[in-house]
Amino acid sequence: MENKVILITGASRGIGRDMANTLAKEGYKVIANYNHSKEQAVALQQELRRDGIEIDIFQADISNRIVIKSMIDFIIEKYGKIDVLINNAGIAQTKLFTDITEEDFDTMMKNNLYAAFFMTQEVCKHMIQQQSGCVINISSIWGLVGGSCEVHYSMAKAGIDGMTKALAKELGYSHIRVNSIAPGVIDTEMNAMMTEEEWNTILQETPLRKKGKPQDITRCVKWLIEDEFTTGQVISPNGGWIIT
Ligand code: NAP
Repeated sequence: MENKVILITGASRGIGRDMANTLAKEGYKVIANYNHSKEQAVALQQELRRDGIEIDIFQADISNRIVIKSMIDFIIEKYGKIDVLINNAGIAQTKLFTDITEEDFDTMMKNNLYAAFFMTQEVCKHMIQQQSGCVINISSIWGLVGGSCEVHYSMAKAGIDGMTKALAKELGYSHIRVNSIAPGVIDTEMNAMMTEEEWNTILQETPLRKKGKPQDITRCVKWLIEDEFTTGQVISPNGGWIIT
């Protein structure tokens, strides 16, 4: 970890929070971004402080380019570099295709695809100067195989995987690795509406018979940060539910 500086977007809750918690405990310098959930972000910071660990929390709506730039400027001013960017923040919505409005579509794209694109662009300016870096994009199985009643979400996540592959080719020469993690269904607030019956159906169809937890994604993130030969890949921790 040698003082590696890691920016995690959407680290107030769910998968991003677990990544921030684990990576900070392992000695990485963590900047945990949040948007609305200030209370949870402050609670995470205080919990870690009780263990003698300091993290930065930074409020920024990453669907806004100007705000993205001020967050990156803050990190560069304070630490002089960003070693790892984890584009984790995202929103989901379940709707029939014919009911998705232009506003729904724009909001989905802004908070997933646009945010990941402009965040990566802003951070990569510094990574290219450093001639090193690691970008991890959290996409989704639905970007790989398509989710019914989640067409706009599936499109945004497939777009993120497209960005991963193209950027890996462009930035490899600058020693920057770019990969996607496409999680299966993970037990977070994003799936709070799922019934026990729906979870059971997924479990029965999952060869590993295991409910996905944020820790399953964090383990994959840790491996990708430490790896030196993987780039342009979409890795899908999903218990074998979806095998492409
Ligand atoms: P979650 O529990 O709903 O948490 C989402 C996080 O994203 C929150 O911290 C939220 O921050 C943040 N966020 C959303 N929009 C933001 C914005 N405009 N600016 C800054 N932060 C923003 O979701 P999760 O399950 O942990 O999901 C994390 C990522 O994994 C997402 O990209 C999701 O699409 C992907 N994923 C999840 C699953 C799953 O089954 N859970 C499966 C596949 C992929 P605030 O609360 O502070 O606003």
